[in-house]
Amino acid sequence: NAPLSEVDPEIAAVLEQELGRQRNTLEMIASENFVPVSVLQSQGSVLTNKYAEGYPGRRYYGGCEFVDIAESLAIERAKSLFGAAYANVQPHSGATANAAVLSAIATPGDTILGLELAHGGHLTHGMKLNFSGKLYNAVSYGVDPETFLVDMDVVRDKALEHKPQVIIAGWSAYPRQLDFAAFRAIADEVGAKLWVDMAHFAGLVAAGVHPSPVPFADVVSSTVHKTIGGPRSGFIVSRDMELAKKLNSNVFPGQQGGPLMHVIAAKATAFKLAATAEFKDRQERTLRGAKLLAEALTSEASKAAGIDVLTGGTDVHLVLADLRTSELDGQQAEDLLHEVGITVNRNSVPFDPRPPMVTSGLRIGTPALATRGFGDTEFAEVADIIALALRNGAEAGALRERVTALAERFPLYPGLQQ
Ligand code: PLP
Repeated sequence: NAPLSEVDPEIAAVLEQELGRQRNTLEMIASENFVPVSVLQSQGSVLTNKYAEGYPGRRYYGGCEFVDIAESLAIERAKSLFGAAYANVQPHSGATANAAVLSAIATPGDTILGLELAHGGHLTHGMKLNFSGKLYNAVSYGVDPETFLVDMDVVRDKALEHKPQVIIAGWSAYPRQLDFAAFRAIADEVGAKLWVDMAHFAGLVAAGVHPSPVPFADVVSSTVHKTIGGPRSGFIVSRDMELAKKLNSNVFPGQQGGPLMHVIAAKATAFKLAATAEFKDRQERTLRGAKLLAEALTSEASKAAGIDVLTGGTDVHLVLADLRTSELDGQQAEDLLHEVGITVNRNSVPFDPRPPMVTSGLRIGTPALATRGFGDTEFAEVADIIALALRNGAEAGALRERVTALAERFPLYPGLQQ
C-alpha cells in the first residue's frame, strides 16, 4: 500500500502536471467542468472494489447493503431534481446511456431522426461509424442556412418524409433552446418516440434556468460531467413508468455489466448539490458569462476582423464563434487561445467551407469558470481577452499575463495534492 508517487512516479507526475494545468489555465471547453472535492472523494474510494450487478435490493452479488444505499440515494435525487418518475443512474457515460435508450425504444433497422453531426448533433444520434448509425437507419435534420437555428417546419417535413420510430432532440454544439413541445407534437403526429439528450444543458434544467424536456419526452438521457459538474458518467430519466423495465434491462444486462459504484455514489452527491441555491447561482453566472462572451465576439471591432457568433448570441452555456470570414481558421484560433492559456475546442460550423480537421469555428463554454467562481466582471475580462486574441494574435504574451492573474484570483482545489 505504498503511495502512488512511489509505486508509479510516472503516473503520479501526470496527475500533478494535470492539476497544475487545470489550476493555471482557464478551462472553456463547453463540455468540461470541475467536480467538487466531495465528488473526488467518492471516486477515489473503496467503492471501486465492489461488484453490484443488478439494481438496489435485487443484486447478483452479496455484500451490496451499503452500495445499495448510495444507488438508491442517487436514483431518488435524480428523480426529484428533474421531476421524473423513473431514473437509472448506472450508465458509465453519456454514450452508453444513449445506447441503452435506443435499444429500449427501437429495434435495429428502425429509422431514427436526429440533428446532423456537422450541425451540432452528437455521434450517438446516428453518425455512420457509431453504433447508432450502424444499427439503425439514421436520418437527420439540419439547421437553417441563414439563421443557423433548428427550424421545426423542417423537422416536421423530415419526420413526415421518413416516418422515424425515434425522434432525437439534443445537441453537443447549439447555442439556443429547442422547442420540446413542438418536437412532442411532431413525434405524436408520426407515431414516433421522443428521446431528448440533455447531456449539455442538464445543469441549466436542474437549476430551472432552461426549460425541462422531461414533461415532453418519452425518455431523457444525460451526462453528469458537463453543466451539472459531477463525475464523468451518464443517467436516464423518464416521466413514464411504463418504460422503466425496458430501460433498466437495456442498461444492465443490455449494455453494461457491473456498475461503477464509486461513480454512482459521486453522482448522488452531485445531484444533492444540484438542488442548492449555490448551484442555481452558478448556472445563472454560467449563462450571463456566455452572453458577455457573445457580446464581445459580435462587437464592431470583432465583426471588422471577420469574427462573429452563430445565431447572433446564446441562450445556453456556450457560444459558437464563427470564423468563416476571419483570417484565422478554427485550428489556428484554438492554438492561439491555448498559447494565451485558455482551453477551447475548434468546431465545424454548419456548412463549413474548411475541412473538419481545420474548421471555421470555436465552441467556447462558461460552466467550468462559473464553477471556479467567475461572475460578470471576470467573464467580461475573459471575453475581452478572447476577442483581442482572435482579432490580434500578436498580443499573446500580454494576454497570457491577464489570464494568469485571473487564474490566481480563483484558486482551484486549494490545498489539494495529487
Ligand atoms: N450526448 C451528447 C449530446 C454529448 O454532447 C455527449 C458528449 O459529448 C454525449 C452524449 C456522450 O457523453 P460521453 O462522452 O460521456 O459518452
